[in-house]
Amino acid sequence: MNQNPSFTAETASLPMAVPASMASTWVPATLPSLVGRTRAGLIAALAEIGVPEKERRMRASQLWHWIYQQGARDWSAMTTIGKDLRMRLAAHFTLALPEVTSEQMSTDGTRKWLMRMAPTGPHDRGAEIECVYIPEVGRGTLCVSSQVGCTLTCTFCHTGTQRLVRNLTAAEIVGQLMVARLRLNDFPSQLGAHGTVPRNDDSRLVTNIVFMGMGEPLYNFESVRDAIEVMSDGDGLSLSRRRITVSTSGVVPQIAPLGQDVSAMLAISLHAVRNDLRDELVPLNRKYPIEMLMQACRTYPGVSNARRITFEYVMLKAVNDSDAEARDLVRLLKGIPAKINLIPFNPWPGTRYACSDWDRIEHFSDIVFRAGYASPVRTPRGRDILAACGQLKSETEKLSARARMILDDETRSNGAAMSDPSA
Ligand code: SF4
Repeated sequence: MNQNPSFTAETASLPMAVPASMASTWVPATLPSLVGRTRAGLIAALAEIGVPEKERRMRASQLWHWIYQQGARDWSAMTTIGKDLRMRLAAHFTLALPEVTSEQMSTDGTRKWLMRMAPTGPHDRGAEIECVYIPEVGRGTLCVSSQVGCTLTCTFCHTGTQRLVRNLTAAEIVGQLMVARLRLNDFPSQLGAHGTVPRNDDSRLVTNIVFMGMGEPLYNFESVRDAIEVMSDGDGLSLSRRRITVSTSGVVPQIAPLGQDVSAMLAISLHAVRNDLRDELVPLNRKYPIEMLMQACRTYPGVSNARRITFEYVMLKAVNDSDAEARDLVRLLKGIPAKINLIPFNPWPGTRYACSDWDRIEHFSDIVFRAGYASPVRTPRGRDILAACGQLKSETEKLSARARMILDDETRSNGAAMSDPSA
């Protein structure tokens, strides 16, 4: 929902929105942050400030340790790095994280953070995304976003009503985990919050990551891949790739690369067993129909009974919840090591769907379960703060992705024209 009805992408006049002086001289308001960078990104940063090549790998490991293992927020905490280098780092970089602009806590302990990213250009007022922490017995799951908005307009999804603004960078994705761990006092060095002893790895609060927030992660493949590389590094944030799940609505060409290059767990946002219905619920199905999707799942690298694919199925009253559809679902998944998550639909303002009745959900689940599939019904979490599945949607007004591209292109060409003496 746009909080400022007088300014929308539709009403913004592009030329008037860009003062020429601003377009050609824009510089970021703050120094770039090192938090969220890959090892290669840290090495590149050290090269930028003139650290000799033979030292860079070692210095990058030191930074890595302080940022990702200790959650250091201050250069002065990095005591294994000499004072001179710390001062040079501080002169060129920050340890900034996405800014938390709002935090809501559900009665069930679920927490939702609205996070604002640093502006990426003169026309970017700081994209906002949502990130949700869901505590459960013995584990805690962080649901992260991979894009600001989404292009895919799945009709049951609240996020799908927000247009795509841009892809998040790998650092911005990792930044969500960093913010969550810091706010939960989930770094070993954070004393006191959970008793008087330092935290150890066995008592970590964030144990699992799911890419089920805003956006289609396989439309932002490189950033998601690099973010998972940082999150799963054993010397840092140290989350097992088996505890990182990437959920796709069915971007078939990127499914095999996800298994090969990333080794993450795969989840499919399925929701229908017939193409005509899935075309409506998940419009991407018109491009990659169910048969293609199932074939990609059958051949997903590393799939086995120990590494099953999760199929998400939102329960929509009188739409996809009949006994016949439950039986068709079982037939469809034959031969695929699978588990099926049945998700009671979370209504949002303006939706055309309603949640299936509880006994219908149980009946559907029984049919699937008797066919030999785990079919847990996902307990709705964070309903009171609109943090449940499909409900994520930040409420900032924004320019459309296309409008921003036009404006940023204009800025670049203005800048190039000014700096090119031959122009
Ligand atoms: S379900 Fe996922 S892919 Fe579909 S609109 Fe929502 S955020 Fe986008």
